Amino acid sequence: MLIWLLACSPEAPAPTPTVTRPPGPPPLAAAKPPEPPEPADPKTFNAGGTGGPNILLITLDTVSADHLAGWGGRVATPVIDGLGGVRVKRAFSHFPQTAQSHWALFSGVLPEVHGNIPGNGQSVYSGPSLAEIAKARGYSTAAFISGVTLLDGSCGLSRGFDVYDDELRTGSTERPAADTVGLATTWLAKQEGPWFLWVHLFDAHLPYTPKDPRRYDPDYTGSLDGSEASLEPYREGKGTPAPRDLEHVVALYDAEIAEMDAALAPLVAKVAGTDIAVVTADHGESFAHNYLFNHRSVLWDDVLHVPLWVRAPGVPSGDVDGIVNLIDVAPTVVELAGWGSTAPFQGASRVGVLRGEGGGAPVSWGRTDPWIPAMPGTPGPRFSQTTADTKVIREADGTACTYALATDPQELHGDCARPADAEWKAHQEAVEALAPMQRAGRGPGQGNPMVPGEMLERLGYIDPSGHPLGPPGAPPPAR
Ligand SMILES: [Zn+2]
Repeated sequence: MLIWLLACSPEAPAPTPTVTRPPGPPPLAAAKPPEPPEPADPKTFNAGGTGGPNILLITLDTVSADHLAGWGGRVATPVIDGLGGVRVKRAFSHFPQTAQSHWALFSGVLPEVHGNIPGNGQSVYSGPSLAEIAKARGYSTAAFISGVTLLDGSCGLSRGFDVYDDELRTGSTERPAADTVGLATTWLAKQEGPWFLWVHLFDAHLPYTPKDPRRYDPDYTGSLDGSEASLEPYREGKGTPAPRDLEHVVALYDAEIAEMDAALAPLVAKVAGTDIAVVTADHGESFAHNYLFNHRSVLWDDVLHVPLWVRAPGVPSGDVDGIVNLIDVAPTVVELAGWGSTAPFQGASRVGVLRGEGGGAPVSWGRTDPWIPAMPGTPGPRFSQTTADTKVIREADGTACTYALATDPQELHGDCARPADAEWKAHQEAVEALAPMQRAGRGPGQGNPMVPGEMLERLGYIDPSGHPLGPPGAPPPAR
């Protein structure tokens, strides 16, 4: 039995979907300090020496690859492209929620192994994060956070960081990109190196409120805007806006991505010739499949397919093929930096892909939240497997559909006659292989959800019926 199933098994299922709201967490300003993050056990990894190149990691929360010009979309990203290096055309997230996906990015292991639970604080993982490896090598380390779902009290990602700046304005769910970039650039100017800097930008996440709402849709005369109140009647299958209105909302989302790119200019200008820079996203956003303006309950490619830029000495410019997973980023950075760490990654270095030499991941696995309680009328946790040419989405009841991505990139015409039991079994075996890297005893209820419940509800992470982890709340997506 997997340790995470013992330690993190869901709370007892509620008898009906209309559960009573449990006592909410205290207001943000009055919340008690979170538990100190537990550092990685130094016995489980070796940092492999000291020093190395400077490293910049930027994560663009909620940015789908296919909206970007580099991946066939309309949003040009001249600032990020200006870093040079490669664009990885097939990079994938494993989990459509912010903290769990970032934990996979930093730890190099699948979400079921690192065991961070949505909004529940900390992680059960005893291996190191990328920041902890950098710190062990003597780096100055800093993180500048822009979204409420990465407050350290709700995710525990501060492990290994000298500075973890998650101070949003009271009552706000996000910090504008320009403000976060300004703080990061100020910190960077004081460093003599080596440094490891993570900048997290949240603007593309709901609400979609660009400074220039007409950027991609100057002729719109309708009444829909990108506010939470305006879009709530349509979120997650509740209703369907008119096609012209949906087109406008997508234009607002795209405009926010473009403005995020522009906001990064002062930081990108600081990256020197020998620095490593990685830019990616934790997950995308859904504007199709009868699941609009959210991401947490579905595994379509508009949610799992993320952009990935990697710039490093020895990496040529251009576009590269081959699957690279977010759990591959940490081991790839370790190799690019010449660190020689022995951290127990599940991912693998994809430097060969970056250099156009092949060696992509054979599969990419995705999950929706396995810790949500079973609720009548809800689909339960989903699983997906992506390979070079196919995508399988398996429901909690064991039914599955397979999509031929070359001829059906929108995943609309699945073959639903074959169960995906073999894919599911392989995934479970991979999770179990690193289950001993988990600490016991930090399951649900032990973390302290420091994020005010109403904030998470506004962002779609808590069901309005009141459960703190929330059922998906959406019907099975149309196929
Ligand atoms: Zn996110």
